[in-house]
Amino acid sequence: MSAAADGGCPADGTGAEEPVLELAGATRIHGDGPTRVIALDTVDLQVRAGELVAVMGPSGSGKSTLLNLAGGLDTPTAGSVRVMGRELTGMDATSRARLRRRLVGYVFQDFNLVPSLTAAENTALPLELDGVPARRAAEQSRAALDSVGVGDLADRFPEEMSGGQRQRTAIARALVGPRRLLLADEPTGALDTAAGEEMMQVLRGRIDAGSAGVLVTHDARYAAWADRTVFLRDGRLTGSTGPRMGVEALFTAPGAPPPPRSEPEP
Ligand code: ADP
Ligand code: MG
Repeated sequence: MSAAADGGCPADGTGAEEPVLELAGATRIHGDGPTRVIALDTVDLQVRAGELVAVMGPSGSGKSTLLNLAGGLDTPTAGSVRVMGRELTGMDATSRARLRRRLVGYVFQDFNLVPSLTAAENTALPLELDGVPARRAAEQSRAALDSVGVGDLADRFPEEMSGGQRQRTAIARALVGPRRLLLADEPTGALDTAAGEEMMQVLRGRIDAGSAGVLVTHDARYAAWADRTVFLRDGRLTGSTGPRMGVEALFTAPGAPPPPRSEPEP
């Protein structure tokens, strides 16, 4: 196991073994009657400090729902979601938003940058909302942009950036400050292979420094950076690779989806 598991500093006296993220029987149902959709079905998942878990599954299998519950953007219909020992279910929206800003870094599938703010302002936003003084927030924002290779674009607005640059900015915003739980929904989707690998290196570095992470990806090359991969289908966890089993386990582990047919690249 990585040195990170030891190096991850427990924030309180509960010991390093407490998961940073714990879903227990987490269920999310939308609608009622004929329109009822079970987006997530009694999912159990624990992610510890120093651990990166990849989530794979077909479109509509519940991957984004799982991340939204983990990040407190949505609440389960049944079951429990805990972040650093704190139960998110039943927590009021203000407390949930505060916990999210302080502890959770979220890379959205569609980036969610604020169009009227520059890259530097977008990245500093979660810190400023949390009361970090403007100058310190600006310094941390700059460092985060530098760490993902877009420090020189700090004054650009999202519409003045390429898709890949926007994606890097969104990653910087998720990494800024002392985030303990990093959640990323296809964070490499807009990046070419070299840039994607570079982003994974940055993410992996933060995990090894003691954060916990969940990475949704369609790409086995990126899942290979994770400590283990779990598979979702129709809202259910169907299986998991063991720790660091390597990329071939993505196809051979119990519950893994069938190997991809050779199809032309989209
Ligand atoms: P994935 O990210 O794996 O593509 P999602 O978590 O977005 O899947 O969605 C899981 C299922 O829940 C899908 O069938 C989707 O249509 C449904 N779903 C997600 N959000 C809503 C919603 N707000 N209202 C109704 N159905 C939803
Ligand atoms: Mg999704």
